[in-house]
Amino acid sequence: MSVKTFYRRFHGTLNLSSILPKKSLVSKKPSKDIHPKHPVRTRFAPSPTGLLHMGSLRTALYNYLLAKNTGGQFILRLEDTDQSRLVEGAEENIYDSLRWCKLHYDEGPMVGGPFGPYRQSERTEIYRSYIGTLLESGHAYRCFCPKERLEDLRESARKLQPPTTASYDRHCAHMSPHEIKQNLDNDVAYTIRLRAPEKYPIIQDLLHGTLDIQPQVNANDVRYDDPILVKSDNLPTYHFANVIDDHLMEITHVIRGEEWLPSTQKHLAIYNAFGWSPPQFIHIPLLTTTEDKKLSKRKGDSSVINLKRKGILPEALVNFSVLFGWSPPRDLAAASHECLSLEQFEQVFNLNYLTKGNAKVDEKKLWFFNKHYLQLQLESQLPQVAEQVIPLVQSKYGSNLATDDKVTTILQKCGKALTTIYEFNDTFSYFFERPNYDQIDSVQEYLAAHDLQQAWYILQGFQDSLDATNAEKLIKQTAEKMSISKRPIFECLRFALAGSKPGAKIPVLVDVLGLEETHRRLDEACKYLENRL
Ligand code: GLU
Repeated sequence: MSVKTFYRRFHGTLNLSSILPKKSLVSKKPSKDIHPKHPVRTRFAPSPTGLLHMGSLRTALYNYLLAKNTGGQFILRLEDTDQSRLVEGAEENIYDSLRWCKLHYDEGPMVGGPFGPYRQSERTEIYRSYIGTLLESGHAYRCFCPKERLEDLRESARKLQPPTTASYDRHCAHMSPHEIKQNLDNDVAYTIRLRAPEKYPIIQDLLHGTLDIQPQVNANDVRYDDPILVKSDNLPTYHFANVIDDHLMEITHVIRGEEWLPSTQKHLAIYNAFGWSPPQFIHIPLLTTTEDKKLSKRKGDSSVINLKRKGILPEALVNFSVLFGWSPPRDLAAASHECLSLEQFEQVFNLNYLTKGNAKVDEKKLWFFNKHYLQLQLESQLPQVAEQVIPLVQSKYGSNLATDDKVTTILQKCGKALTTIYEFNDTFSYFFERPNYDQIDSVQEYLAAHDLQQAWYILQGFQDSLDATNAEKLIKQTAEKMSISKRPIFECLRFALAGSKPGAKIPVLVDVLGLEETHRRLDEACKYLENRL
């Protein structure tokens, strides 16, 4: 089944029993301890066909973490042999996204390494020599069938009852050496196909156990899977290049999405044809599409670069992504609230904690993590955060009103209210603009729910005396004098000073606004109330 069909067929209902043909045998119990005890070599092998998304980032992360945890190597390999699908800038985007998330690869394009080149488009000669070996051994054969014939075969295969998932009739597998030579001499275009075995090898997946994936065949009209290894443009297909490279690059563990599961038996057949041992496979659950869509709708698409533009911090994205399909041991999860850094993940990552079910993207958690990491940054790197925020604020409110000091103070004292730095202008608008009470929903809500006479009375009491140092004391005294709790007093002052918007404590509000502005707002709020009494 092609990846496309696979997606089409299983869109939205992805779980292992639904992604495999009905008769696939799935053993329920993979061996207990699946975490490798020796240094492993893993790879992330993206195709530069678009922006790097969260799902791919998670694949990269698991491979990275497994390598780091075992003291092994993590390799970046670009799978760019399908020229028609390449997208300009996508390769750069892969490098940028990985760098931003601090996922350093030990070997890869640009950094090199002993098994290079790491860009498949630069390995054509290597694939050519290996396909020669398979042609000689009879495990592969040239297929000269024109497109129209293949289309007819697919069409007739579709009509078979029961249907078959393989369509080729192996016409070219039976050509004589003379016929082949004639075709080659006449420059007839050809692809090279694997002569698929009678029965594909059984997959041993570390996470899922034993899987037996066979094409469905109609006994009255037997067709063959015979996957194409080299296309008519002489370039290898994904299946072929992927296997050759994993073998030559000495990859020991392949962690990839479940969408590649229906390709794995083909890969195993290629390993067998060469007499090579395959790596260990771990197919990880996909992110459920519905949840993924939600994330895209609200915050733009879920590519790493777009999340970065939305103000997501790399630490938050890494933390969030690792937890799709992997959970830390319980005591660590409880102690850390699952807030773990890349370094901590490197220490504790263990294949035994991978989960099998679909990974649901819970958007709220990403914002929770972002808030957490933004707070840490504000505590330890305030000037650096301020440097990013100041231009954003000054471009809206001007540098006279939004001085560097004022923005930095607000960040320092009220930064807790922010989930991303881009919320600053909206959240803290009241520090720069006098609230227009009539037009603020939160003010209208306040007015509807409070005794305005009492509010007016409270504000009167603060009008001449409130300052940043005595605010707490005055509020307490007023509450005692009026025999009410402090809460309506806070709410009343917040209405007057900040248009009932949260984010800053009253003494901070008074401090940052300054005495003159504070008293002016108290005065205006009193007048506003008087008009409504
Ligand atoms: N090039 C494939 C991709 O884009 C790699 C799949 C694999 O890891 O084998 O995801």
